[in-house]
Formats: sequence, C-alpha cells, structure tokens
Amino acid sequence: MIIIMKRQAPAEEIQHVIAEIEKNEGLKPVPLYGIERTVIAVIGDERIIDERHIASLPGVSNVMPVLRPYKLASRETKHESTIVKIRNVEIGGTKVVVMAGPCSVEDEEQIDTAARGVKAAGSTILRGGAFKPRTTPYSFQGHGRNAVLMLEAAAKKHDMVSVSEIMDVRDVEFMAQHIDILQIGARNMQNFDLLKECGKANKPVLLKRGLSATIKEFLLAAEYILLQGNQNVILCERGIRTFEDETRNTLCIATVPIIKSLSHLPIIVDPSHGTGKIALIPPMARASIAAGADGIMVEVHPNPAVALCDADQALTIKNFEDLMEDIRPIVGAMKRTI
Ligand code: PEP
Ligand code: MN
Repeated sequence: MIIIMKRQAPAEEIQHVIAEIEKNEGLKPVPLYGIERTVIAVIGDERIIDERHIASLPGVSNVMPVLRPYKLASRETKHESTIVKIRNVEIGGTKVVVMAGPCSVEDEEQIDTAARGVKAAGSTILRGGAFKPRTTPYSFQGHGRNAVLMLEAAAKKHDMVSVSEIMDVRDVEFMAQHIDILQIGARNMQNFDLLKECGKANKPVLLKRGLSATIKEFLLAAEYILLQGNQNVILCERGIRTFEDETRNTLCIATVPIIKSLSHLPIIVDPSHGTGKIALIPPMARASIAAGADGIMVEVHPNPAVALCDADQALTIKNFEDLMEDIRPIVGAMKRTI
C-alpha cells in the first residue's frame, strides 16, 4: 500500500499515520520524505488494515493498494492461467469452448434434440436451466430436479459435459451428483452462502457477473468460492444493466482482457443474455473470442417459437450451426481451436 500525504501535511499528521500502521503486527511503514509531500510505503500484507480508515486520517490525500483485495483470484498470486478440466474438456486452455443449449430444460425430447444438434455442430458443453431465476413469480420457474435428471441423461447420451444453474444451497449435493458444472447466475453473484457452499462442492463453478457488479466485486465473489478450496472457477461476462435499452443488457467485452490481466481464472462470454437479440449474438461472439475469451455460452432451442423461457434470444439449431462457422476464422486468428 502506498499512502500519499497532502502537500504540506504537518509532521504530527505524518507521525499519526505511521503510528496507525505500526499498530498492526507485520506491517512496516516506510516514509519517503519528498520536497513537496511525503509518501508512506507500507511493507507487508496490507489486507490486514482497513484502507478506508487510513484514507480518512488527517493529512492523507490518497491511498493506493498494491496487493489486490482478492488474493486467490489474482494473477499476482498465481501467474499461470488456470485450466478447468472436466473429462476430455478443458476450459482456459488453447481451445475455445462452446456451451450451448436451451434456456430451460422443458422435456426429454427438447433437451435431447438440442443436445444432438449442438454437439454435431461442435459444442462440447450442454447447458439447460432447471431452476430458473425469473423476474416475476408468474413466469415459468423451471422443472427443477426432474429437469436436472433430463439434462444429465441428454449430456450422457451425447457424451457432453453439463452445466446448469443452482439457486439454493439445499440443492448443492443433488446438483453435484448429477451435473458437471454448477452455474451461479447473475442474480446470485453475491449470494454469499451459495458461493461458499459451491466452494465446498467437488465440482467446477461457472460464476456469472452480477447485473450491477463491478469487476472487483465479480472477482471478490469468485474469491468466496476459491477460499473454500474449490480452484475450478470459470467466470462469465453476461452484460450489466445500464441506461441503454436497445439491448437486454450492456455486454462489456472489455471485461475479458481486464479479467485476463487481473486474474488467472478462465473467462467466457454469454452474448445471449448479454444482448437479448438473435442478430447480435454472432458479432458479439466473434468480438468476445477476438478479445481473448476462453469460450462462449449461447441459448439454442429446437423450436424457439414454443420456448417457455427467453424465446426472443434463442437460436435455432441452424442458426447455431451458422454461428459455429462464423466464429471459426476468429478462433483460428487467435491461434486457438474449437
Ligand atoms: C441463464 O444462463 O440461464 C441465466 C439465467 O443467465 P443470467 O444469470 O446471466 O441472467
Ligand atoms: Mn435465459
């Protein structure tokens, strides 16, 4: 931590700041007296002191943390990129992964047809919601545990990895028995109990960015999972809420290189929820991969006209096949494969 004192801060104020730092065992304040102002470098693990307290002391102009607030998620702590491995699928390696499937699992035939279609086009991870976080309680809420079993069966039949959202800590054990990747949705990004319970589960976690979360908050949410000993966290940018209303959310592609520089965790992008518009999914998928994303997640339905959830943004299987062809040159240009 670097503490920059105000110009002409009196010696008593500088001494007061030094004394406050010295109260913490293991921290050493090193004052650097300049002509115009004094800077105090703090040596040691700065996370043990409250940055806001130091910033509020008289004479302090600015406090700059050096170590990131998230320790385990930070690239400062672990330089090499994390690769999450699930059987023959790797997320965060040289391949770009494509997760695809319906917003929600509706019946056996729907999820089976979706799985067959997306697998044939090159997807390795089958998505499908069983517990749906809907804005209104009157909307379809998902088929729950039955849907989990339908997704599991379709993924097994088509030799795919499965991913599905978990909303309740009471479902962790059940989900972990039947699903390969536990998804924590945008609305639950700061459901700290859920983060902790998924951190204890022996399954990778796909953590989606909260609707109004900053990147720091996003990484701190990941930190909750990592802190429980679960190293297999995959981040997902899915857009945030802004004043723009042309798109369902504002998809922030810059998150990808920002996360890549701050963290060793893999990051994928969801252009379906990120834009809410079918026409915008291919260009945003291309942009995400060009920005360095380790994968994409898209919603695909065999018959969007009858979809029970997010019909407006569902790609048909043909649309999905076209999307796969569309992203191939970008994947190649990034020296990656699908
Ligand atoms: C989803 O992927 O089904 C979903 C609900 O996404 P999000 O949490 O990003 O809104
Ligand atoms: Mn959806």
